[in-house]
Amino acid sequence: MDMSFSPEDLAFRDEVRSFIAENYPKDLKSRRTRGEMTKEEILTWHRILYKKGWIVPHWPVEYGGTGWTTTQRYIWNEENARAETQALLPFGLAMVGPVIFNYGNEEQKKRFLPGILSGDDWWCQGYSEPGAGSDLAGLKTRAVREGDHYVVNGHKIWTTLAQYADWMFCLVRTDPNSKPQESISFLLIDMKTPGITVRPIITMDGAHEVNEVFLEDVKVPAENLIGEENKGWTYAKFLLGNERSGIAGVSRSKKAIERLKSIATAELVDGAPLIKTDEFSRKVAELEIDLTALEVTELRTLAAESKGRGPGPEASILKIKGTEIQQRITELTLEAVGNYGHVNVPTGELTGNEFIAGPDYSNGSAQNYFNMRKTSIYGGSNEIQHNIIAKMVLGL
Ligand SMILES: Cc1cc2nc3c(=O)[nH]c(=O)nc-3n(C[C@H](O)[C@H](O)[C@H](O)COP(=O)(O)OP(=O)(O)OC[C@H]3O[C@@H](n4cnc5c(N)ncnc54)[C@H](O)[C@@H]3O)c2cc1C
Repeated sequence: MDMSFSPEDLAFRDEVRSFIAENYPKDLKSRRTRGEMTKEEILTWHRILYKKGWIVPHWPVEYGGTGWTTTQRYIWNEENARAETQALLPFGLAMVGPVIFNYGNEEQKKRFLPGILSGDDWWCQGYSEPGAGSDLAGLKTRAVREGDHYVVNGHKIWTTLAQYADWMFCLVRTDPNSKPQESISFLLIDMKTPGITVRPIITMDGAHEVNEVFLEDVKVPAENLIGEENKGWTYAKFLLGNERSGIAGVSRSKKAIERLKSIATAELVDGAPLIKTDEFSRKVAELEIDLTALEVTELRTLAAESKGRGPGPEASILKIKGTEIQQRITELTLEAVGNYGHVNVPTGELTGNEFIAGPDYSNGSAQNYFNMRKTSIYGGSNEIQHNIIAKMVLGL
């Protein structure tokens, strides 16, 4: 694994840096969570990158990838984190897209990949159900084949941003008599089909990011089945591997620690910067050490991917450590801003009589803290990732 920067890499870094500086919309900079953004705002950066041809650096070139080296992809992530650009939605680009080009037929590739690339089709993930989260293979949503279509009935939950979705990739049970993992299929469902109801769930940071999705006698054309019937568990696990490694967010955590350090330099305790106190500086140092170790693990995974080896069970290590670090950063940021962290920052534009108490850097730290609790739950909870590592990596 050679990650040193050649003169070409440095030129690439400059090109990326100036592209972001010139093209990233200024009005997106102040937005904290997607729950408080409109659909168009969430899609703005996506559309700019699509136009530039940089929307899927990690895809094969034949499907729209950039053909960048591992080092260039690393630089790309670093530069986006450095500029604090909004992370792109993973549902189409990182999740269902690779499933379609790996397991879908030619017709499906032609039909679905262009909308994923352009952002015209918004995808959501229909995996979890009220009784099937960690025990995903126990899902009950049923799809019965009737002629040239399936009839789907069931209840999905925690479906992120389904309120905007055009399509849902959905795990359904197609054979009630076989073993759980051998009776699941992977269906692509048009969210405009009659029988689909989306109901919001408001999370503790006050945002509308997740939903329940009810499916009642929803007719789905059989041509929307990915791969083979009852083989959906294979495609579902492939997708989860990609989802987990994407959650690690190392570059963004590096930037967030930089921000935390500057806050802790501005905040004073008995007249001295908080960052100079033994206890706080020790906590920050521990975070930085853990993040450096995680970065090396992530680079190893990237190097393996560039040789055609997809993320295996080691993606679980990235998921656990990455999310623990993200949560610790939001905890320490909240600790650093003290009482101002408790201020509830209004979403949207401030009216003439409103103002936000405290320094700008304290804005939204409580919302961020609450919002980031989700990261150790979604993509498969961290306890489940520990089980996967015990079984698949350590062979226990
Ligand atoms: C903000 C957010 C967004 C999400 N977005 C989506 C989405 O878009 N699409 C989607 O399909 N899902 C989504 N999810 C669902 C997510 O994948 C599930 O919440 C997760 O898999 C956990 O399942 P559960 O909530 O049913 O908890 P449960 O499975 O009921 O688990 C409850 C607790 O028990 C622990 N536990 C369970 N089994 C074991 C075990 N065998 N060993 C040790 N501990 C165990 C878990 O770790 C957890 O702490 C989202 C979740 C959140 C919070």
